[in-house]
Amino acid sequence: MKVAKFGGSSVASAEQLRKVATIIQEDSDRRAIVVSAPGKRFDEDTKVTDLLIALGEAYLQNQSYEEQVEQIVDRFKEITTKLELSDNVLSEIRQDVTNVVESDYSDELKMDALKAIGEDSLAKVLSEYLRSLGMESTYLNPQEAGIIVSDDPGSAQILDDSFKKIYRLRERDDIVVIPGFFGYTKEGKLATFSRGGSDITGSIVAAGVNADLYENFTDVDSVYCVNPTIVENPKEITSLTYKEMRELSYAGFSVFHDEALIPAFKASIPVCIKNTNNPNGLGTIIVAEKETQENPVVGIASDKGFLSLYVSKYLMNRELGFGRRLLHILEDECISFEHTPSGIDDISVIIRESQLPQDKEERVIQRIKDELDPDMVHIEKDLALIMIVGEGMDNTIGIADKVTHAFNRANVNIEMMNQGSSEVSMMFGVKESRVDAAVQALYQSFFDH
Ligand code: ASP
Repeated sequence: MKVAKFGGSSVASAEQLRKVATIIQEDSDRRAIVVSAPGKRFDEDTKVTDLLIALGEAYLQNQSYEEQVEQIVDRFKEITTKLELSDNVLSEIRQDVTNVVESDYSDELKMDALKAIGEDSLAKVLSEYLRSLGMESTYLNPQEAGIIVSDDPGSAQILDDSFKKIYRLRERDDIVVIPGFFGYTKEGKLATFSRGGSDITGSIVAAGVNADLYENFTDVDSVYCVNPTIVENPKEITSLTYKEMRELSYAGFSVFHDEALIPAFKASIPVCIKNTNNPNGLGTIIVAEKETQENPVVGIASDKGFLSLYVSKYLMNRELGFGRRLLHILEDECISFEHTPSGIDDISVIIRESQLPQDKEERVIQRIKDELDPDMVHIEKDLALIMIVGEGMDNTIGIADKVTHAFNRANVNIEMMNQGSSEVSMMFGVKESRVDAAVQALYQSFFDH
C-alpha cells in the first residue's frame, strides 16, 4: 500500500487535478491520498489557505469578509466547472464559514476551523472527481481517519493513539482521500498543524497504515543538492537519509516541512519526492540508511536571519553553572536557541533574529551583565548559517580542508564553525552578504568536477 500526498501546486487547478487523477489511476497501490488546499497557479496568485486566513482576520476585526468568501468559492467553482462536477462543495464552503463564525469557539479555534476549509473542500472535490472517472473513492474526514492531535491550535502535534486507528484503513478496498493539515483533539475540536502541515498528515497516514512507500508529489523533479536560486542547474539528489534531509531542511531546504518526516522516520517508511508534472522522473528517495556513495557530501544548505550572542569571561571554564545560568536567562525570556559553539573563556549562542526583538535584546543583555558579571557581552547580527550535510562525512578525511579552501577562494570570512560528533553535518556562520558567494564556492568544490 502506498500513501500519496499532493501539495498545493499539484491541486491548484482543474488541469493539475487531472494529472493527479491519472497518477492515482496508474498504480492500484495508491490507496490513501492526502491533499493540500489549492496553492498558487502562477507567481502572483494567492493560496486558498492565505485567503482563508485573510477571511479569519477580517472576521476577527469585525470587518466584512464577503470578498474573501467569494474569492475562495470562485477558486473552487473554476475547478468543479472544468472537471464537470456537481457544485455541492460551493454551498458547503459558504455553510462551513457560517458555521464557524456562528459557533461559540474561541478565536483561535475559529481561525483553525476556517484554515482547514481549503484542504477539506479539496478532498471532497478530488474524491468526487475520482468517482466520476470510475474509481471507487471516498472522502474521509481526519476524525474518521483517526488523526487525533494535541490541543494546540495552529501547531497541533499528533498523539500516539492515532496510529492504531489509522491502521484500520488498510482493511478498506476503496481509495480514501483525506484532507491534510488538521486533525481533531480528544474532545473533538479541530486543530491544524503548523503552516505547510499537509506534509505532516501524509507522513502520519503513511506511518499509521505502515505503507510500503510514502510518495510526496510536488512541483520539482527532485531535491537538488543546493538551492537552485543560488547555483544554476545544480545536481539532483537521488537518495538521502532521513537525518540528512532533516539537517538540510533545517537550514533552508524548503522541500519538506521539518516536522513532517518524524512519523515516517519512526516507522521506517521510505519517502519519495516526485513531480506531479513529471511523474515518471526518478524523484528523490529518502530512507533510513543507504549505501555509501562516492561523494560523502549530499547537499549544502544555507539560511539567513541569525544572530550570535557572544559572552566572554576570564576563567569561564572553571565557573560551575555558567552555561546553565546563561541559557536559563534565555529560557526565562522564552527565547529558543539554535547552537552554542564555545571556547575556554567564551560562549556564543546562535539565535534566530525573529526570536529576539529589540526590547528583549536590551533586557537579555542587561540580565547577563547583572547576573553573570561577564567581561564582555555583545550581539552580532546579519549572520547566515551554511550546513554541509552527508552521513558519509563520518570518517572521511579532508572535508574541512576542502571547505576552508572554498571559503578562501571566495574570500569569505568564517565567523564561526560547529561540527557535532554525529558528523552528519558541519555548520559555518558567515555574514549574510557573503553567503551566496560561499555556497557557490562550496558547490564547485564538492559537486562541480
Ligand atoms: N494549506 C496549508 C498551508 O498553506 C497546508 C499545506 O499546504 O501543507 O500552509
